[in-house]
Amino acid sequence: MIASKGYAAKQPKAILAPWNFERREVGPHDVQFDILFCGVCHSDLHQVNDEWAPGIFPMGPGHEIVGKVVKIGSAVSKFQTGDLAGTGCMVDSCRTCDNCKTGLEQYCINGGSFTYNGVEQDKKTPTYGGYSNTIVVHEDFVFRISEKLSLAAVAPLLCAGITTYSPLKYWKVGKGHRLAVLGLGGLGHMAVKFGVAFGAEVTVLSTSPGKEADAKKLGAHKFVLTSNPESIKETTGYFDFILDTVSADHDINFYMSLLRTNGVHICVGIPPKPAEIPAFTVVGNRRSLVGSMIGGLPETQEMLDYCATHNIVSDIEMINIKDIQKSYDRMLKGDVRYRFVIDMSTL
Ligand code: NAP
Ligand code: ZN
Ligand code: ZN
Repeated sequence: MIASKGYAAKQPKAILAPWNFERREVGPHDVQFDILFCGVCHSDLHQVNDEWAPGIFPMGPGHEIVGKVVKIGSAVSKFQTGDLAGTGCMVDSCRTCDNCKTGLEQYCINGGSFTYNGVEQDKKTPTYGGYSNTIVVHEDFVFRISEKLSLAAVAPLLCAGITTYSPLKYWKVGKGHRLAVLGLGGLGHMAVKFGVAFGAEVTVLSTSPGKEADAKKLGAHKFVLTSNPESIKETTGYFDFILDTVSADHDINFYMSLLRTNGVHICVGIPPKPAEIPAFTVVGNRRSLVGSMIGGLPETQEMLDYCATHNIVSDIEMINIKDIQKSYDRMLKGDVRYRFVIDMSTL
């Protein structure tokens, strides 16, 4: 086994603290890479706090992982030592179901292996994430990373990037569409960048007046403060799509009233409490309420390559791993500009 170190929550809602654990030895198809940077996703906070379902503890979070390959298995063909590498929200899947066979590993019918708070395909060995010094992953679930971009700013593409890229592609959002991005945080700011790159008219719907200038800098065409009844009223029936990245409880029915006929509200944010949606919300104006989870392997590599070609990265604030708890507190207040990334040399 490989002696490893990182930060973990020993039990639900615990303060993250240093811990030592073991990774498996590098198997024939595995890649071991030393982690240089790891993004901090709101999903980390939801799961440490057991907000979705009972988690597996100790929990070492982190699924926006980038670093440098230090060892490869005998059958690995995609990587050599010294290469840049990245892993997102998944480390394995069954590979045999219809979804896995069509590049939709995130919807693996037999249950995929998530990077942390999950189990390997043996259905019993727990997985531990990227708030750590090194990781061993099957090469299929390791992505190639361009040398062209700032590595720390690439890390958030592995979750925030693909989670917003994938639904915009699936629903073919682009030229001629009015897209609202609800919530300007980690996912939201990537959604603005992709929406603009795909040619849509992008409006940020935000609860934070202080984010207007940033929204414009990110390329958004419009900014609407959702707490201002006058300006929000003007957008009633206006949007073709709303990409909802909000992490906390909010009234989806209200936001769906901002959609035009046949408009689509896409949930990617996963608030802890279930929403109450009267049938009237979707019956009126034939609106759709849909959702999307991260992206599959081919699409994630496609997104990374697209970002390298178009010079797209995340706007980040680098942190020392000792400040992880402070970053969680700030994330809860919506005070993220726009993704915390842990500099793993501080571990
Ligand atoms: P984040 O950086 O904390 O951003 C969330 C944003 O939501 C905040 O910055 C804030 O933006 C807005 N917000 C917060 N509370 C709100 C409230 N009560 N009402 C309205 N808006 C509110 O979080 P994130 O990392 O982007 O993640 C967002 C959500 O997506 C989380 O629930 C996360 O678990 C989920 N997620 C899902 C997937 C997936 O595959 N579907 C993948 C990754 C993450 P403003 O200040 O602009 O209002
Ligand atoms: Zn995430
Ligand atoms: Zn599968």
